[in-house]
Order: sequence, then structure tokens, then C-alpha cells
Amino acid sequence: MSRLMVSVSGIRGIIGEGLTPSEVIKYTQAFGTYVGSGKVVVGRDSRVTGEMVKSAVISGLLAVGCDVIDIGICPTPTVQMAVEKLKARGGIAVTASHNPIEWNALKLIDSSGLFVDEEQGKKVIEYAEKSNFNYVIWEKIGKIDHYKNAIQDHINAILKLKYIDPDLIRSKEFKVVADCVNGAGGTTVPQLLRELNCDVITINEEPNGLFPRAPEPVPENLSELCEKVKSVKADIGFAVDPDVDRLAVVSENGVPLGEEYTLALAVNYIAQKKRGPIVVNASVSKVIDDLAEKYHSKVIRTKVGEIHVATRMRKENAAIGGEGNGGVILPELHLGRDAPLGIALTLQQLAEFGGKISDLQKKLPQYYQVKRKINLDQVEPEQVMEKIVDEFSDEKIDRTDGIKILWDNEWVHIRPSNTEPIIRVMSEAKTQEQAEAICYKFMKFIEGI
Ligand code: MG
Repeated sequence: MSRLMVSVSGIRGIIGEGLTPSEVIKYTQAFGTYVGSGKVVVGRDSRVTGEMVKSAVISGLLAVGCDVIDIGICPTPTVQMAVEKLKARGGIAVTASHNPIEWNALKLIDSSGLFVDEEQGKKVIEYAEKSNFNYVIWEKIGKIDHYKNAIQDHINAILKLKYIDPDLIRSKEFKVVADCVNGAGGTTVPQLLRELNCDVITINEEPNGLFPRAPEPVPENLSELCEKVKSVKADIGFAVDPDVDRLAVVSENGVPLGEEYTLALAVNYIAQKKRGPIVVNASVSKVIDDLAEKYHSKVIRTKVGEIHVATRMRKENAAIGGEGNGGVILPELHLGRDAPLGIALTLQQLAEFGGKISDLQKKLPQYYQVKRKINLDQVEPEQVMEKIVDEFSDEKIDRTDGIKILWDNEWVHIRPSNTEPIIRVMSEAKTQEQAEAICYKFMKFIEGI
């Protein structure tokens, strides 16, 4: 199997087994040619391989006449915001997000600060495959500038949001433990918390790319954080992924709230203050629908993936949106998932609530999710999907992304992965047991095909 994956959202691969400097240069020359000569912002997460990949990125861009603005190690949302602020033609974030340490990747960003969409991504791939590169002569080669204020700009923009009252948060002197997984979060999250007058205890703060836990901020990877929150008697714990677009919250009891509740908390807060639709992907918890009903808002669902949510938010003039994996998007800041934003919104709401984070979460609708996957050896994903539609044709089926079968307070969502030969099966119900039972039933059905 090739260890280089090229898709409309960027390229990713395992270093030394597919993601080589020559591949990186090929795609960045294509991107630079596509956006045209002009400024391109480049930032990276803390991966050990980041400097090597970034050097190739810069080389490719300079060769086609782009001027590079290097903003250093920072969150992916910081790169997105810098593209807008610095009025660049585009941006490249060198990050493999939550993938393991041996991976790296390029996330391509257009001039509006959104990830490139399908059409733009296809063009870049076409340019790369046809070697359609706009090489320039010696006197037109691009220049490199270093911009050191991107993280501070990002933090300032969050603190200036009309939904955030920094002085109120400061007055609470929250004791907070932050787990940055030695990713890019170490550059940003502790600083944001200190500016909010929190008593900050960090674990894995060093942005050296040596991930001490599996990088996804899902409950099973947060045991160190949970222990720390309990042992220092903190008010709350936060964990981010290596490129800081996903956030998980841990209660004062050292219990992860579950990634779905990161977005649920943000929606609960914003929907009370602001009219407008809430845009989420097809897998996001029904907690959001219940909250929308309570606050008389509408929920719009999209395919899974940040770009689908972000472009729909722009089209619908959404109040808030995001993904259930801990990705909160607020249009006033920018149209991208942003963990520091999630932190500020959570602390703001907690400050206004005046109680404990576990009590605040208990006030939200309660649902339980189960997520599993099935390896497909012989069967094609389309065949599986057809069989499910035939078998369950009497049920309420939503085809936004794969197949989602909905009952009153339960659902199951079945969708083939875009990147691996697997089918994902997710279910949700009012109890853990019920969610497990639904998931089990559909796993059995698919395995029987
Ligand atoms: Mg990420």
C-alpha cells in the first residue's frame, strides 16, 4: 500500500515511506502556481519531521514566485487566521493533525482562511500531476519573511469577541490543567489561560513533537490529565490534539465529558445569545438538536469534514457550528475549528454559571455514543450500503453522508471511510447499553453480508 495519500484536502503520508521532500515540493509548487505569485502563510505543528517538511514547502513556494510568511510552530487555526489578517493568497499548515508521530501532511488553505474545497483541491492535484508549474527566473524568486505575532493575534482576537468577558473569567481565578500532548498547543494554550488569570498547571507543554500519549483527545487517551485534575483539585482540565483544532474537556472530578460535549457546551452558550442556524456534520450528537429546539434555532447537517461544515456555515450565515470530535467554529472569529476558542467559550460559560463544570454538563441533554469500525476484505462499500438501505427501507433514512437511520431518541450512522478500506458504524441513544445494542446489531448485519 502506498504510504502517500493525496486528496482534495491535502497530502499526507508516513515520513520515509511516501512523504518525501520531492513529493512535498511537487504539491507545493502546484499550490503556489494555483494561487499565483503573492504571499503564502506557512506554519507547522511541533512534529519532529516538521522542519524538514516545512523546508520543502518553502522551497516549492519560492520556486514559483510566492513570498513565504513563516509563522513558526502554531495551531492550524492560527495559520488560517494569519492568512486572513495578512491578506495572503493562501496558506499551508504542515501538520498531520491527530495522526501518529510517523505521519506528516499538508493542509491547504485558500485566501479566505478556509481549507481548499473540492474544486480547488482538484485543480492543485491536476497541476501537480501535469507538472504545470509556474517556475520563475532568478530575479522573481520569492522572499521569506518571519511573522512572530500570529499566536498573539489569535489570542487577542478571541479575547475581543463580544461573547467573551475576560475580566469576568479573570475574577474567577480558575485552576486549570492543560494537556498539550507536546504539540503546537504548548505555544498557545497556556498563554491564553494565563491571560485569563487562570492558575495554570500544564502537562506535555513542550512543543517538541514527542507525543507522550496517543494524539487524539478521546477519553481513553486522557488518563494522565484526569489524574492530574484530581490530584491538584483543579476546576477543569483541557486536552488538545497536536494541531490544536480539537478540544476535550475533563470535569473537576477527573472525568472526561466526551468530545461531543465540547461542541454541545459551546452551542448551549452561543445559541442563548445569538440567532441563526447551527451547522454540524451528520455524526454529531442529538444533544445539538435538543439544544436548538430549546433555543428556537435550526440545525443544518453536512457531510463529515471541516470544509463541508465551514462552507455551509458561510452560505447559511450560521450562528455557530462544528464537529463532534471537539471542533468548535464561531464565524466572528474565523470559519475553522479552533480549540483555544473552545477553551475561552467554556470558561466564559462556567464563569457565568457560577458552579462546577460537571453540574453544567448535567444540565445539557444526555446521550451516549458508540463508535466502531469494520474492516472490509471482500465486499465493496457500495454493496454494503445498498444492502442496508434495502433491509431497513421502512425506517427513516438520511443520506447526507453514508446512511443514517433515525428513531425518536436514537440513531445509527454507517459510512465508508474516505481514506481506509473500512466502514464506520456509530450509534447514539439515551443509555450506553442501548447505544451498544444498536451498534452491535448493525455490525452483525454488515458482517453477515
Ligand atoms: Mg487536528
